[in-house]
Amino acid sequence: MSAADDPREYDLDALRRRLLPERAGERSTSIPELAGADQHLCAIALALPDGSVRSSADGTKRFSIQSAVKPFLFALALADTDGGALDRLGIEPTGEAFDAIKLESGTGRPPNPMVNAGAILTCALVDGDGPEERAARIVTGLSAFAGRALQVDDDVSRSEHLLGDRNHALAHLMRDEGTLEATADDAVAVYARACAVLVDAEILAVMGATLAMGGVNPVTGERVVSARIARDGVAVMATCGVYDGSGRWMRAVGVPAKSSVSGAIVMSAPGTLGAAIVSPPLDELGTSVRGRIGAEALSADLGLHLFG
Ligand code: GLN
Repeated sequence: MSAADDPREYDLDALRRRLLPERAGERSTSIPELAGADQHLCAIALALPDGSVRSSADGTKRFSIQSAVKPFLFALALADTDGGALDRLGIEPTGEAFDAIKLESGTGRPPNPMVNAGAILTCALVDGDGPEERAARIVTGLSAFAGRALQVDDDVSRSEHLLGDRNHALAHLMRDEGTLEATADDAVAVYARACAVLVDAEILAVMGATLAMGGVNPVTGERVVSARIARDGVAVMATCGVYDGSGRWMRAVGVPAKSSVSGAIVMSAPGTLGAAIVSPPLDELGTSVRGRIGAEALSADLGLHLFG
C-alpha cells in the first residue's frame, strides 16, 4: 500500500483543496438555520478500524446531522424492537425525493427507513414512554455510535418541528393508515430533535465506522448494536441512502452512504472504514455537490468501491 492509497496517510487537505473551487449547488432553504449555513464549510474525515480518526481543515466544525441520522435511527429501532421494525417498514428504494408524500401501496408502511416517512416511524419505534423519553433515548444511542456525548441544537429542532409541514403530513398519513401509534405531532417532534443533533465530520466518520465495523465503535470498543443490525443498516444505506440518486451513487462511488440537507454525507465501507464529507451546497436531489465529487475521489483513490 503506498501513501496515496493508505487511509492512514491519505492527504485529506489536498482532497479538500480539490473540492473548494467547485461552486455549484444551493444551500437548503427548508429552515433558516440551513439557509444561513456557511457555504464555504468543507470537511472530510476518516475513522479507521484501529480507532484513529483523521480529518481535513474544518473537520471539527459543527453542523446538524439532518438525514445522515437515518441509518442510526433505523439501527436503534431494530435494536429496541428486537428486529420487529422490519415488519413495520419497507426496505425498497423509492426512486422519489426524500420527502415524497407516499407510503407503500397495499400496506401503508413507509417505503424504507432512509426517506422521511420511514425515519419518522423509526423515531416512534425506539424505547421510551412519550416523546421526551424517546428523544433522550435517541440522543444516548447516537452518542454511543459517536463515542461521545452529543447535543441537540434547540433552534434547529424548533425550526424543523415548526416548518416541517411535509413531515407533519407524512405523520398524519401514517396515523390514518394505522402504521404510526404515537400522535403525529409527537412523532415529528422526536424526528426534529434527531435531525438537529450536532456533529462534525470527525464524529460522523466514527458513526459511519461503527456501522462499517459490525456495530462496534472502533474508538471506544463499545458494541453499540449487533453485527446483524449493523449489516442491515449498511445494506439499506446501499440501496436507499441517496434517495432517487442511490443507483447513480452506487455505480460512481460504490460505498454505502447517507446524504442530508445540511450537506453532510456519512459513508460506511464494510470492514474497512467510516468516512464523512460535509459541504452545504446541494444538487437537485439534496446531495452535497462537493460531497458527491469528494466521495467519488475518495473511493477511487482508496480503492473503496464495493464492486471494484
Ligand atoms: N430534517 C430534514 C427534513 O425532514 C431532513 C431531510 C434531509 O436531510 N434530506 O426535511
